[in-house]
Amino acid sequence: MSETLANLLQENRRFEPPAALAEAANVKADAYTEADADRLEFWATQARRLDWTKPWDRILDWDNPPFAKWFVGGELNVAYNCLDRHVAAGNGDKVAIHWEGEPGDTRTLTYADLHKLTCQAANALTDLGVRAGDRVAIYLPMIPEAAVAMLACARIGATHSVVFGGFSVDALAGRIQDASAKVVITADGGYRRGKPSALKPTVDEAVAQSPTIEHVLVVRRTGEDVAWSDKDHWWHETVETAGEQHEAQPFDAEHPLFILYTSGTTAKPKGILHTTGGYLTQASYTQHAVFDLKPETDVYWCTADIGWVTGHSYIVYGPLSNGATQVMYEGTPDTPHKGRFWDIVDKYGVTILYTAPTLIRTMMKWGDEFPAAANLSSLRVLGSVGEPINPEAWMWYRKNIGHDNTPVVDTWWQTETGAIMISPLPGVTATKPGSAMRPLPGISADVVDDEGNSVPNGGGGFLVLREPWPSMLRTIWGDDQRFVDTYWSRFQGMYFAGDGAKKDDDGDLWLLGRVDDVMLVSGHNISTTEVESALVSHPSVAEAAVVGATDPTTGQAIVAFTIPRGSVDSEGDAGEALIKELRDHVAKTLGPIAKPRQIMLVPELPKTRSGKIMRRLLRDVAERRSLGDVTTLQDSTVMDLISDGMKSAK
Ligand code: ATP
Ligand code: MG
Repeated sequence: MSETLANLLQENRRFEPPAALAEAANVKADAYTEADADRLEFWATQARRLDWTKPWDRILDWDNPPFAKWFVGGELNVAYNCLDRHVAAGNGDKVAIHWEGEPGDTRTLTYADLHKLTCQAANALTDLGVRAGDRVAIYLPMIPEAAVAMLACARIGATHSVVFGGFSVDALAGRIQDASAKVVITADGGYRRGKPSALKPTVDEAVAQSPTIEHVLVVRRTGEDVAWSDKDHWWHETVETAGEQHEAQPFDAEHPLFILYTSGTTAKPKGILHTTGGYLTQASYTQHAVFDLKPETDVYWCTADIGWVTGHSYIVYGPLSNGATQVMYEGTPDTPHKGRFWDIVDKYGVTILYTAPTLIRTMMKWGDEFPAAANLSSLRVLGSVGEPINPEAWMWYRKNIGHDNTPVVDTWWQTETGAIMISPLPGVTATKPGSAMRPLPGISADVVDDEGNSVPNGGGGFLVLREPWPSMLRTIWGDDQRFVDTYWSRFQGMYFAGDGAKKDDDGDLWLLGRVDDVMLVSGHNISTTEVESALVSHPSVAEAAVVGATDPTTGQAIVAFTIPRGSVDSEGDAGEALIKELRDHVAKTLGPIAKPRQIMLVPELPKTRSGKIMRRLLRDVAERRSLGDVTTLQDSTVMDLISDGMKSAK
């Protein structure tokens, strides 16, 4: 990029933390001072929130960058920290998971229940020949067994590789083969959109292509018929009959805990490797700090899927290591009706909610009446993750879900970072709608220009991390060189996140989306995020995705794909009028340079299974190319609809 990113959008709204929340917050402003004074000692203090069987000799070994070792020589067991120690402390009867199936069936699992099941699963996996260091693939719906399977692997030192339950045979087989997994844990199926959705047939095909798989463990969820081979074992006949006693063995702080493939929003997914001590330290601390989680009184709900890193860190390892009570929901947000999420909040008295901008925008599109129909007064902290949150979506979230007084924490992080890196602290930060604000205590993020120089306040450029952090990825599985090339080669001695960002006049951070997504229009760098936020600020727009398409006169031109809100008439002439109004609205909000060349009104946007907009596919459409890698796309028919619309628009 020749110039810095454009700094177009103005935002002057500020929201102070509620006084009572600030007063009682787990983490206060002194955490920043403490971490600034001695970063490594700060992280050592957070690591001591866990139980270690052997203390570390050295906090950080960064002698061979970018290959980090945290808490060198220390030993601990992750499952012990998530389960046994809570049971030992007398909290065995405390609810760990309020689970709700999509059809409305429920299960309540206490810490003692979860501990027992995890011990049984650990014994069953051991009986199937799984040993420390082996890889186990997990391909499950959102049922408690998903958490149990992950914890059982952690307990015996097997490295899990969770694959989204919505992925195809090829995506699953590719991940099994890349990790040389020995066992797959799956289910007959799960419930989605009101009906059973089978998983086992996909596993059968993937296993047929994957000679390393020795056993398949199958949870019965839907009761539908499944094909059976001699590698298959029913969970209820294997795990639920296994011994309930299991002694957790300690593992080295750098023992591989899991491999997880990135969402594939910008490129082919990468197998990200996370290890034990540093990962759990940061997942656990950030859960405590960013959500102000009080295990005695809070009911926490993260709506992510466990197939996504958010599900790993903030459904399994973060909440359970803190002894939280949480809600886990199997299905889709509009089954049987569009108020399902709010009914769940109401029913369980959820106090902390963590979700994604894609969901918030979908809820905006559906209308305010759905949250208004439920009692959401229990909520006290709201979180967002996955994409930049548009200021208008942030405001809607605070107002309609957070009764206008709940802090919203916009958390920036990646599969690679393992845990939250940049976020407000709910009891400390005066938030700005759309800004992730500051790096957390102990984290050193910055925005740099082309040459790697820190930009002054008011400037924009590339988001980097200057110092190693405990939950950082250790490598790309089986490909150290790609790890070095992808993240550590763009700027000397810094981790390059791949995201654009700007610092406002106060030095607060605004994420601008992927660097790949920045458009160069007549010599001006314009971020897709800012144009999208301008579109979403129009009352007729629910969602927007913007891409730069090659243009003979301007280099790149802005093409916007826009979903109108539910109540808006967008057919025929009304549609044409709306398009004109939106182009003018963007020009008025951001300046004429940002006026889209073309706006398409579309019913849906292409998204990954984790709900992120796949702009690279829209760019392919806008430039009339054949589509790139679509293996992580949620719904492939969406692309046909959009491509057809593009053709008719000429
Ligand atoms: P791939 O790397 O394969 O393209 P991906 O980057 O979508 O996939 P993830 O690790 O799930 O895979 O997503 C991390 C990315 O999500 C970040 O780099 C950033 O672009 C975006 N992101 C996450 N949280 C936020 C946030 N709060 N604000 C802005 N962007 C965010
Ligand atoms: Mg990425």
